[in-house]
Parts: sequence; C-alpha cells; structure tokens
Amino acid sequence: MKVLVYAESTEGKFKKSSYETILYASKLAKKVSGETIAVSIGNVSDEQLNTLGKYGANKVLKVSEDRLNSFDSKAYSKVIAELAKSEGANIIVLSHNYNGKAIAPRLSVKLDAGLVSGAVELPNTDGSFKVKKGVFSGKAFAHYEIKSENKIISLMPNSIALEENNVTAEIVQSNIDLSDQDFGVQVKEVKKSSGKIPLTEAELVVSGGRGLKGPENWGMVEELAEVLGAGTASSRPVADMGWRPHEEHVGQTGTAIRPNLYIAIGISGAIQHLAGVNGSKTIVVINKDPEAPFFKAADYGIVGDAFEVVPKLTEAIKELKAS
Ligand SMILES: Cc1cc2nc3c(=O)[nH]c(=O)nc-3n(C[C@H](O)[C@H](O)[C@H](O)COP(=O)(O)OP(=O)(O)OC[C@H]3O[C@@H](n4cnc5c(N)ncnc54)[C@H](O)[C@@H]3O)c2cc1C
Repeated sequence: MKVLVYAESTEGKFKKSSYETILYASKLAKKVSGETIAVSIGNVSDEQLNTLGKYGANKVLKVSEDRLNSFDSKAYSKVIAELAKSEGANIIVLSHNYNGKAIAPRLSVKLDAGLVSGAVELPNTDGSFKVKKGVFSGKAFAHYEIKSENKIISLMPNSIALEENNVTAEIVQSNIDLSDQDFGVQVKEVKKSSGKIPLTEAELVVSGGRGLKGPENWGMVEELAEVLGAGTASSRPVADMGWRPHEEHVGQTGTAIRPNLYIAIGISGAIQHLAGVNGSKTIVVINKDPEAPFFKAADYGIVGDAFEVVPKLTEAIKELKAS
C-alpha cells in the first residue's frame, strides 16, 4: 500500500510540520509494507527536495509551474488527487495546519476517501484502520475507523518527534494538466510579520492575557520570549481589544497550538482558551490568583504578580544561558 504525503513549502523551503508529516507517513508506510511518496507543489530547489529523504520519503514528485507558486486549495487538491490516482496510493497524509485543513476535505470528496482530521498518533492497522484524535476541545480522545479504500489523515503539528532516516529520495518531475477553472482563489497580497517565529511552528510559546493590563506592558512578554527563542501568543480579549494582532490569539476561535512549552501569563484559563493550548507538552502558569482555573491544567504554576515574576524569570534565564 503506497502512502502519499503532501510536503508543504513556503518560499521554497519546507516547514517543520512537513518533515513531521513525511516521517509520520514513512512510519505508516512501514506498518503497511508500502513506500512513501512525497508531493511538493511550487518552486522548490532540488537541494530542499533532497531533505525529504532524510525523513523517509522514497520518492518525491515535484510539480512546479508559475500558477502554483501561490497556494490555491482547489488547484492543490486536484494535483494531489491526480498524483494519488496515478501512483495508486490509497493513503494520503497532510499536516492539520491552515493549508492542510483547506485541502483535506476537497481531497476527501475527489477520492471518495474517509478523512480523519487532527490525528495525534500512528493508526492502528491490525486488521482495521483506526486513527486517534483529540475531541471535545482536547478533553478526550476518540478512535475513528476508516473503512473506505482510500484514506486521508491530517496530522496535528508537533505530534511526532523528528528523527532522521538514511533514505535517498528519487526526485521526479510530474506534470498535471490544469485549466484556469482548476484555480479558485487568487492571492493578491501576503502580509507577514517579519523576524517572528510563526506560532504553529514554535516549540516554545510565551502568552499573555488581560492580567497584563495593557499593550504597553508587552515588552516583558517579548523579552522573555526572546531569551527563550519562543513565539508570542495571547488570549482572545487581548486581541479583541487591539493590544496584540489577531494572528497571536490562541484558543477555540483562534489558533490551536501544541508547543513543547506554553507559558501563560495573566491568563485565567477559560475553557475556550484551553481548547487551543491543552495539547502543549508542558504548561507553566503565572497568575496572581491562586484560584485561577488555569492552575488545574498546569504542569508548573507560579502564584504571583506577573510584573514581579516575569522580569525575574527572564533575568534568571539570561544568567543560566551566560553561565
Ligand atoms: C464562543 C467563545 C469563544 C471564545 N474563544 C476564545 C479563544 O479562542 N481564546 C481565548 O483566549 N478566549 C476565548 N474566549 C473568551 C474566554 O471565555 C475568556 O473570556 C478569555 O480567555 C479570558 O481572557 P484572559 O484570561 O486574558 O482574561 P481574564 O479572564 O480577565 O483573566 C485575567 C487573568 O489575569 C490574572 N491577573 C490579573 N492581574 C495579574 C497580575 N498582575 N499578575 C498575574 N496575573 C494577573 C487574573 O487573576 C486573571 O486570572 C471565547 C469566549 C466565547 C464565548
């Protein structure tokens, strides 16, 4: 059984989540005695494409043409569906990120395939095909069985620890016939916050809530994030009040993240906030109210005034790094 995996790239480079999906797909391919075929769409150098082998891709199908240089879920899903058919791949893996979420349902329709979105582990393939995912805003896990011949899994970012394999991938240029009707969305402009770690890619995240009183106090959050090499996030009211940009808002209605470390400063821990962060490996909560609900979800808690605790924490980390 062949496993086809979409390796997403941005500006010609693969994301960490792409390597995670390749590794996941290659482990899955081993379980079903198959091979791993990666699909790269857009302009990516052969040097970059070769890196996919390190995570277990046996073959890399490269689809490049000018119209595919910006993301279009309609066209991208057509490319992936056509390649899955021509390669005879029955299992497709993508990342459960913005683009993966846009492609996966379209692919599911095109290939008449069962889809489990947001998987957190390799499927159980002993006699059936059961995939584990978080449900009820991460409060429980469910095991879904995919019974259709074609199967699609989107993998939650940060669900698998990266490790390198010793595989050399064969790179093959593939051409898919695309008409103008295959393109549905035209990207007019892309605005990026430069120099910052994208939240979904960040291994460490420092986040602030309404307890910080105002945007003028975010310097200490940014300083802590900087010494740690972390991304910054916020609760929703903070973004709603315009203290921080909306792309930093995490939770049920914002971005869902699963970093290795999430430091929550002055955030109460409402259920809607927890829904976006409770997959984090380690949660540290700093709050002056010992009854704040967030402490129940925390691995480590500091009861104290953020304006005293955070600068001390930053200094301690600086000293540790300097020693
Ligand atoms: C449909 C719906 C969807 C929602 N989606 C989201 C979402 O995606 N994400 C999200 O975050 N929220 C969401 N919310 C809002 C959510 O219910 C909470 O209102 C919100 O998370 C609270 O934000 P907060 O913790 O920053 O503020 P608050 O609840 O006001 O908490 C501030 C915390 O800071 C502490 N504090 C105050 N001063 C200090 C200090 N000096 N030092 C240390 N601690 C201090 C307080 O003790 C308190 O615990 C949603 C709500 C609804 C109804």
